[in-house]
Order: sequence, then C-alpha cells, then structure tokens
Amino acid sequence: MKRLFGTDGVRGIVPSELNPQFIAKLAWAIGSYFKEGSRILIGSDYRAGGEAIKSIVSGSLILSGVKVYDAGYAPTPALQYAVKSEGFDGGVVITASHNPPEYNGIKVIGPHGVEIEREEERVIEEIFWSEKFRVTGWRSAAWSTQKYPGVNDIYIRAVLSHVDRHLVAKRGFRVLVDPANNVGALTTPRLIRELGAKPVVVNGDLSHEPARAPEPTPESLRETSSAIRAFNCDLGVAHDGDADRSIIIDDQGRVHWGDRSAVLLARHLVLYKGLKGKVYTGVSSSTLVEDLLRPLGVEVVWLKVGSVDIAHAMRRSGDALCGFEENGGFMYPSHQYVRDGAMTTALFLELLATSGKRASELFSELPEYYVVKKKYPMSRELALRVVERVREEFKSERLITVDGVKVISRDYWVLVRPSGTEPLLRVMLEAKSEEVARSVLERVELAIREVTGA
Ligand code: MG
Repeated sequence: MKRLFGTDGVRGIVPSELNPQFIAKLAWAIGSYFKEGSRILIGSDYRAGGEAIKSIVSGSLILSGVKVYDAGYAPTPALQYAVKSEGFDGGVVITASHNPPEYNGIKVIGPHGVEIEREEERVIEEIFWSEKFRVTGWRSAAWSTQKYPGVNDIYIRAVLSHVDRHLVAKRGFRVLVDPANNVGALTTPRLIRELGAKPVVVNGDLSHEPARAPEPTPESLRETSSAIRAFNCDLGVAHDGDADRSIIIDDQGRVHWGDRSAVLLARHLVLYKGLKGKVYTGVSSSTLVEDLLRPLGVEVVWLKVGSVDIAHAMRRSGDALCGFEENGGFMYPSHQYVRDGAMTTALFLELLATSGKRASELFSELPEYYVVKKKYPMSRELALRVVERVREEFKSERLITVDGVKVISRDYWVLVRPSGTEPLLRVMLEAKSEEVARSVLERVELAIREVTGA
C-alpha cells in the first residue's frame, strides 16, 4: 500500500501534488476514520493555499458526517492544545511546517492533542486506497462549519500558567522574535508582552512569500541573528512556519541547535522546577545530552527520529521530564506532549531570569564539539546497506540501532541513517576535534563507496 503520510502528516507541492481531487479524497478518508458525529477542530498556518485547502477539507469532512469547527489561523501547538483542553474528538491542521513555501500539508490530531499514531495513519490510507468512504445520512449531516474563535488566547493563557511571570517581568528582557512571516506572529510577541518583556519582531507580517526559509537554521537565520546585537536584545527566538519549533539565538547573535538549548531547559526543569523524569529524544541529538544530564540522575531515552514517535513514547510511559528534537522542537509534558514554540520561549525566559546569566554565558558553559552534517543521494535500499556496513565497521563501539546506526565513542558520535522522506543517506557527526571528525567521516565514506561503488 502506497504511503500518504510522511514523518509528520501528508505534504506536497500546491497545487500540483495537493490538487483538489487528492485533498477532497484524503479529507473524505480522514472524516470516515473519525466516528460519525465527531467534533473536529480545523485550523491552518498562513502558507499559500491554506485557505483553499481548508475549504475543501472542511467540505469533505462535513459530507462524511463529522462536525467541523474552524479555529482560523493558529500555530499547530495552539490548535493541538485546544483539541485536548476543549474536548474535541480530533483536529486537522493545514500546514507544511518547515518545508519551502511552495509546500502545504495536512496533519491529523487525535483527541489527546497529539498527531495520530502510525497505525491510525494506515487506517486512513486503507480507506483512501480502497475507497471505503462513509457517506452520512441527509438528516445527520451538520451542513456548515462553525467558527471557533479564541484558540490562540486559550493557548497563550495555558503557556503562561506554567512559568513564573513575575520573576520574568522583573528582568525587563528584550526578546527578538522571528516567526518566518507566519502564525507564530499571532502568539509569541503577545506571550512575551504578557511576560513583562519587550518583543522586537522581525519577519512578523503574515505573508505567503516569507522573507526567509521557513526552516530555522543558522543559514536561514543569518540576518535575524545579526539584528540581535543591533537591537540590543537579551535573547532571540526563531520559529518554523507553524511555530512548533523554537531555535534560540543568544545575546551575541549565535544560533544554537535545539539539543543544546534543550539541555539547558532540562536542567532548569530539574534544578529550578524540581521536576523528575526521563528525557526523550531522537538519535539525531547530540550525546552531549547524556553527558550533561546523567550527573543529575536523568536518564536519556534514544528513539527513532520524528517528533510524533517521541510524543507517543512519552505519553505511553508517563515518566517524561521533557522531550525534544535537535531541530528546535521541545516538548514539555506538564503542558502538552507535543513540540511547542511558545512554551519553549516562555521556559527559556524563565531559565534566563532564574540563572541571572546572559544567554551567551549559559551556552558557553556547554562543551563545544566539531560538527559535520552531510547527505548523500541514494535509494533507501542502498542507504540501509550502508547502515549495515557501518554497523560492522564500528562493532566494537557502543551502538544504538533504533533508526539507522548511531555509534557512540569517547571522542565522537556518528549517526548514519536513511532519510524518512527523501532518497538520501544522512550522516551526522560530532567530535571533540576536527581531526577525529575527519578520520571518522573517512571511515563512513569508505563504507558508502564500498556499497554504492561510486
Ligand atoms: Mg513545525
């Protein structure tokens, strides 16, 4: 059966891939998956095509016999929170998250506020391909979408309830916010104001053609990070398109990957908030996490790359302190089990306020590693053979094999895995020196050449 769902929802280029016929059929399958009469909350980010897709999805859902409530424009975590807290049976978000602007997508949310599980995606795909759609009775259809305003307000209130507002307000922080011309602009600046800090917003107008790539990375944030010092800000926060990720920029304009900021946040949760639990993350995160959290008695659980799997693992175990991805997605289970850009921002400001240090000082206390991230185009089949070959090559080291192979040694770690979405092999490597990094990469590249013959 051909897969429709990728790592997080169904994505495609608008309108060639996400065309009206495909969207209507997919939404009909989603509607048929939910029980007749279910209450479904729908919302979107500001990507091109979002309004049109939302109309088609809403129509299909209604004709399949579910009730549709329209939240309007909202960050994914705001809609997810409202699904959970307002007692909806599920949700649909029209977003392609961090993908380039020509993409859009559809995410399906369960009643717990987390994206539905992999098996449930399969059920929807089965309905789609077999065309076993539900047709509702003339008398039971709801016939119209109901507006459901206020989702962003509910969300901001919830985020605020988890941090010490007065403590943050005392510090009078200036915070640079870059929402990538998307829905984070509707919530994060307001949240910062409510925390008694002053937001300085760049790329804050809603636009179908964002001024920077929707994925927050050191490259896409070059201009944003230079504004930090120009505006004399204490901190910078950059979201992806649907504002579930927060990449932190320090007061010196340095952009930090999510695993580094997550370590600081996890420490804050233990030392300041007195919370206990395990930290859940994907194998693509740095082993720095283990090195720094183990002394605090915090165990790290390594999982397959992908926030949905991390969220469900935390939800099932019930013993999580927090979860995160190195791309800036941080999950705080006391609030909700999903990545949440505004929650991450609020917690980081609370951390800054309690530490009494500058953000740059906090990050400079973390060890620096030499980082290599590379991708090699190849089929999934070849990529899996490279993984096997690397596993053999490094068999005397500690190996984690939940997703590709991660080798953890004293002076380095390296992850070799097939991409979940593209015909690529991804290699991530951190080492204590450039020399070590180069020699490890050489061993990996030799394995690649042996398999591909290139
Ligand atoms: Mg996202």
